[in-house]
Amino acid sequence: MAPDTLTAPLLPDLVRLAASPAGKQDAIGQAAQLLVAAGCIDPAYADSMLRREAVANTYLGHGVAIPHGMVEDRNMVRRNGIAVLQVPGGVEWNPGQTAHLVVAIAAQSDAHIGILRRLTRLMQDEARLSSLFTATDPALLIAALSEDQAAPVAGPGGDLAESFEWVVDYPTGLHARPASTWVETARSFAARIQVRHGDQVADAKALVSLLQLGLRAGDGIVVSAEGGDATAALARLKAVITRLSAQEKADAKAAALRARSAAQGWTPPGALPVVVGIGASPGLAIGPVHVLPPADLTVPDQPSPLINGGDRLHEALTLTRQHLKALADDTGRRLGAAEAGIFRAQAELLNDTDLITLACQLMVEGHGVAWSWHEAVERTAGSLSALNNPVLAARAADLRDVGQRVLARIDPSLRIGSIHDLPDQPCILVADDLSPSDTAGLDMSRVIGLATAQGGPTSHTAILARTLGLPAIVAGGKALLELADGTPAVLDGQGGRLHLDPGPADLESAGAWIARQAERKAREEERRGLPARTRDGHTVEIGANVNRPDQVPVALSQGAEGVGLMRTEFLFLERSDAPGEEEQYETYRAMLEALDGRPLIVRTLDIGGDKQVPHLQLPQEENPFLGVRGARLLLRQPDLLEPQLRALYRAAKQGGALSIMFPMITSLREVEALRAACDRIRAELDAPAVPLGIMVEVPAAAVQADMFARHVDFFSIGTNDLTQYALAIDRQHPDLAAEADSLHPAVLRLIRMTVEGAARHGRWVGVCGGIAGDPFGAALLTGLGVRELSMTPHDIPAVKDRLRDSDLSALQDLAARAIACETADAVRALDGGGAS
Ligand code: PEP
Ligand code: MG
Repeated sequence: MAPDTLTAPLLPDLVRLAASPAGKQDAIGQAAQLLVAAGCIDPAYADSMLRREAVANTYLGHGVAIPHGMVEDRNMVRRNGIAVLQVPGGVEWNPGQTAHLVVAIAAQSDAHIGILRRLTRLMQDEARLSSLFTATDPALLIAALSEDQAAPVAGPGGDLAESFEWVVDYPTGLHARPASTWVETARSFAARIQVRHGDQVADAKALVSLLQLGLRAGDGIVVSAEGGDATAALARLKAVITRLSAQEKADAKAAALRARSAAQGWTPPGALPVVVGIGASPGLAIGPVHVLPPADLTVPDQPSPLINGGDRLHEALTLTRQHLKALADDTGRRLGAAEAGIFRAQAELLNDTDLITLACQLMVEGHGVAWSWHEAVERTAGSLSALNNPVLAARAADLRDVGQRVLARIDPSLRIGSIHDLPDQPCILVADDLSPSDTAGLDMSRVIGLATAQGGPTSHTAILARTLGLPAIVAGGKALLELADGTPAVLDGQGGRLHLDPGPADLESAGAWIARQAERKAREEERRGLPARTRDGHTVEIGANVNRPDQVPVALSQGAEGVGLMRTEFLFLERSDAPGEEEQYETYRAMLEALDGRPLIVRTLDIGGDKQVPHLQLPQEENPFLGVRGARLLLRQPDLLEPQLRALYRAAKQGGALSIMFPMITSLREVEALRAACDRIRAELDAPAVPLGIMVEVPAAAVQADMFARHVDFFSIGTNDLTQYALAIDRQHPDLAAEADSLHPAVLRLIRMTVEGAARHGRWVGVCGGIAGDPFGAALLTGLGVRELSMTPHDIPAVKDRLRDSDLSALQDLAARAIACETADAVRALDGGGAS
């Protein structure tokens, strides 16, 4: 019997290259002819294919069409097969849709899903797909359409050509954050790379597949690769895998320390019923519990044409990835890299080809797009949970969370809203598990504590609760969910316990405990509240980098004396439309009010580079960091600049200490044009003058600082960008990140030039890039003459401590030695770790 081309490799005589059919009908006819000649179909099936076109759209997207016959004509299919007609010049399939590969499918049952699976995989590799449109070697097409990368060969003999062995030494096993770094690394190579544990093999480029290995500390694995760059890929992967060990061990140590301190929780005077979990975020909360009902989501199955469904899924995935990236960037800037990693790992889950393929298969079976996506997520999450490994169970929750984000994009009516329907009274929120998005978006005026049935101390809920300062316990088990709504309770986030039905004596004791903790906190805050004054009396102003009014109180409680950088692009990035003048005005006003007379430096929109705003539909940049970004974009788009300036001047008119700062300034012409816009709008509104400053992020601005100082009121150095432009290292480059050190002597020299240039005209210089929040960096910058440091609120106490323990003269000496160093490592080696 002839081989079945849906499961066996495609045969050369079923491929026709360089075809130029007269139209769609001709293309279908030619492809059908190939199937007839190979004995796959009766000639009449060609008509059936044409009839199908009248009732369904078989254009799959990305230049691929999949004509196939009517279901009732399956009897004309003699054996399963596919034929490929390559049309380099393209053939119009439908208005606006041009097919370059016509993949005609003859399938007796549901066997065509196999070919769709390959096609959907191929569609995620657009470069490879489009190369097939003009390939002159049929073998390339045959290989692309025949290989099924989903099933790497299992078994000890299944390793690829080159390999290395490694024993997992991550104390909590291979969980999603390190795994997503593995995947990112593997994906930067063309080689096929796999990870084997016993007889289980995973594709190193697919996160879910990797996680399904369920690797725990002590497990031995073999990482193997084959292909042109296999050797380099393995060397890099090995370096990345082992480098992550140190971080994983440090995290585990910190978790252990937290667990130890958990023993010091509150003990009630009476014997109360208690639910025991794991302390995840310290603090005591007294209040009624509110049990969140399990999210009851019924996704209706509304079939839609395949192509339409494919497009909707594609768009939803793209938008969700972009949103997660924005969320990760913002979280990284506000909270830190580890917290940002939560959202990066989530975005990685969306790149999982098995998941997407499964959703496509379900659509091809005739199900609706929302239903198919939801089902694919549920099946995949279900298989992760079934492995009975707590690490994987947590990832299942992540997958459901990220799946829900995509679902809400496919159909906004499917957004789960229960977390927002909280009682008016502050409550202890009890849930099976909370997703990172739920936790990050909690209404803090209504939720005083969290208790989840699932999760662990390193789960995302725990990490985010700690950063929000919200008492929390995790892993309380199902008993939690059986509590009656409104049960009075005392949540002990340190001891990991939820005490129920407290009596008056218990409440009094808990109240006293809270008061003692509050006193301790107040003492700590008082120290943070002291100025960053060196021992010899030099004061550095300390600002916070925050973007929203509700973040201001936290920043102030950490010791911020104002806001040194409000990144306004985040007003645009976290939503799907652009806020207008009125909404921006309200936000700036609320910022000024929250700051109550303290300084606020608002940076005008810095869009472009790493901050893409899809809904603005700006032209695609070849090289976004060197293209139209920041001030360059504002000057080209008055529709972005003017409403923002109007909103800012209107806010300034109501009082407060507002300054305006422009990003990515390179030349005087930009400053003059921006200043002219400010003057004109200010005059129109009869608003007060406010200080106008520029970001020094481009080496040109640092080198010409003395010139710029004549034209602006202050400088704030964006060391993140200044470093990337000075060292020519993309700030997001995974391999080069470690080399993009803002303490590189070349960057320090540019900072010194800026300070000297500014001083000639009596201007002050601040730094709002990441290095300002590094205690050693802050010490060096102070020694270089920087007057203001603005950072993530979280970093303020340590920076203040470092400066208060130093003498300016010693810092100046330190800066002089740093400038004279040859390398960034030599600069870092000057760090004595404490007093200077
Ligand atoms: C910088 O470049 O250092 C900076 C503060 O701006 P952003 O990180 O927003 O580009
Ligand atoms: Mg910048």
